[in-house]
Amino acid sequence: MSCRVCDCGRFESFAQKEEWHFSRCAKCDFAFLDPMPDQSTLNRLYDDDRGITTNYYPKSASRHSRALRRALRLLPWTWRKSVLDIGCGGGFMVNAFRLLGAKAHGLDVNEQAISYAETRFPSCHFYSGSFQFFDANRTFDFIYSSELIEHISELAEYMQLIVRLTHLNSYVYITTPDLGSPNVPRPVTSWDVFAPPHHVQFFNERNLAFLFNRYGFEQIRKFPDKKAGLKILFKRIA
Ligand SMILES: [Zn+2]
Repeated sequence: MSCRVCDCGRFESFAQKEEWHFSRCAKCDFAFLDPMPDQSTLNRLYDDDRGITTNYYPKSASRHSRALRRALRLLPWTWRKSVLDIGCGGGFMVNAFRLLGAKAHGLDVNEQAISYAETRFPSCHFYSGSFQFFDANRTFDFIYSSELIEHISELAEYMQLIVRLTHLNSYVYITTPDLGSPNVPRPVTSWDVFAPPHHVQFFNERNLAFLFNRYGFEQIRKFPDKKAGLKILFKRIA
């Protein structure tokens, strides 16, 4: 086995939470569930609807206002651009991008969430299904994928999808917990986002940038985060 981020083959034991064991790459510090469940096992975790119906989504009012604030920060890169939110849930960010002038699309594995999104935001475009089987037959100017990459066991497939869905000078905005942050609680297993098996891996700024570099992206900007989160904008340069 080699590291999913840097291909190094040396690992150390990192943490144990209940029955879940995490290893860490000795070279790049990427920490991951070991053994790693396969993607179809993980996708089944998201089959349950968490109370979502075609007409109801939990905390929709606060999601709506938060999405508008977030989309406003990204306006310089999304205005009049084609945008895809991978892992869009009920479509709140997709709609916020649309309200702020983008041609907005969303993809989510949860069918109920997409059903809600299509009903609530009929001017946006939505796709349902796992990212592994997604093929839009087109590219987008901007990919937004927030708090998703830590759920993905098939990391190479996810990165290949991002490459397929982008062109030269496309932007990709990723948010994920930041294992390198000084705000991470000790012990790490007490961190609220240290939540296996939903969260199967943890990055820091350096190894996330290394991963995206391998696929032709460079880091453009790191946005501030009050807690222990990474908010990174990448640009495709190759
Ligand atoms: Zn590594």
